[in-house]
Amino acid sequence: MKIHEYQARDILSQAGVPVPPGVTIDNYEEAARVFKEVATDCRPEDGGGKLAVVKAQVHAGGRGKAGFVKLVRSPEEATEAARFMLSNKMVSYQTGAEGLEVTKLLMVGGVDIAKEYYLAITTDRKTRRHVLIASSEGGVEIEKVAEENPGAIVREPLHPLLGLQGFQARKVAFELGFKGKQVGQAAKIMMALARTFLDKDCTIAEINPLIVTPASDDHPDGQVLAIDAKFNFDDNATFRHKDIQGMFDPAEENPSELRASRMGLSYIALDGNIGCLVNGAGLAMATMDTIALEGGTPANFLDVGGSASEEAVTEAFRIILEDDAVKGVLVNIFGGIMDCAVIAQGIVNAASEIGFEVPLVVRLEGTNVEAGRKILEEGSAKLTTLQAATDLGDAAKKVAAAVA
Ligand code: GDP
Ligand code: MN
Repeated sequence: MKIHEYQARDILSQAGVPVPPGVTIDNYEEAARVFKEVATDCRPEDGGGKLAVVKAQVHAGGRGKAGFVKLVRSPEEATEAARFMLSNKMVSYQTGAEGLEVTKLLMVGGVDIAKEYYLAITTDRKTRRHVLIASSEGGVEIEKVAEENPGAIVREPLHPLLGLQGFQARKVAFELGFKGKQVGQAAKIMMALARTFLDKDCTIAEINPLIVTPASDDHPDGQVLAIDAKFNFDDNATFRHKDIQGMFDPAEENPSELRASRMGLSYIALDGNIGCLVNGAGLAMATMDTIALEGGTPANFLDVGGSASEEAVTEAFRIILEDDAVKGVLVNIFGGIMDCAVIAQGIVNAASEIGFEVPLVVRLEGTNVEAGRKILEEGSAKLTTLQAATDLGDAAKKVAAAVA
């Protein structure tokens, strides 16, 4: 599960990480008033005057480059930036060409930046440990740093029981080049980030950028602050975090995926044209591979699981058939716990309710398969595009040929 930056900032702030405060708005007419509330004073060296940042709240990064993080110096500039973001779709390297609609903005006080850093905790599959990843090349895409300058990335594994320890955080702070009082501040932030990652069952907890402000009379070594944050959570653990569940934003989800998850189906939209309905994640992956082998491309991954009801199966067909990209459907069932009759009834229900105008290839095997075949036979008047397949190879061949 993903959350918005403003929510991630709240979590960080509660964990003791210094984060400039902000206000969210969903109408550009509020921007001028909020500017006056949050804008900070700039140093004369940085041009003086007031500074705030308007930031689109969407579940995708790369906002800065896309023009959806804007530094503004007056209420008028704030209004203009807010109006732009709320009336244009954001296209970044993380969104795909269609882009994302923006309905909420975060306005925060601007800060002067002396240097940007990268900080994250995630899981390293190779070492089977959680790991702190840090870099003095912050603010930019970390994937790019990893590719072009891998030496600039520091990795520090977390202890399986003790998590990140103080000496490790200080060591990393020195390696990143923090000086004087910055070292303690940066180490404290790393510790808080690691604790949050574990406490909240995150899959990633990221601050990019972590920044140091220029030296001032009040802070001769500058201040270390988090000015952007991203958290993803393990869906299998959100049941024990009511606070995190409350941050779920359905508007940011793919509507078909959301419908499927409400019915207990695992559905992932893909960009091909063969709709798939399969029982079991492993079989679903094998099905997609076999389709690819026959020159076809799957429109989705859909695992109805072992115990789907007739209603869930019917809903699964509704989701598949409502996708205009779908030019053919492949049903591949190897019934163990799943009852073939339930699937067959779902097919017949979908045929009555929506109708299969596209080719439908069905491979049924396993528990109660005779009853399933009988149901399909009885419904054959409505299943005019149905082709039966003897095995998965045959099914993939038939559906790939049907959509070619
Ligand atoms: P992202 O592009 O989606 O990761 O959005 P960020 O919140 O990380 O902002 C992108 C970039 O905008 C940062 O790396 C900074 O360079 C710049 N930026 C964001 N907030 C401020 C600020 O308060 N002051 C200054 N000077 N730059 C900022
Ligand atoms: Mn960022």
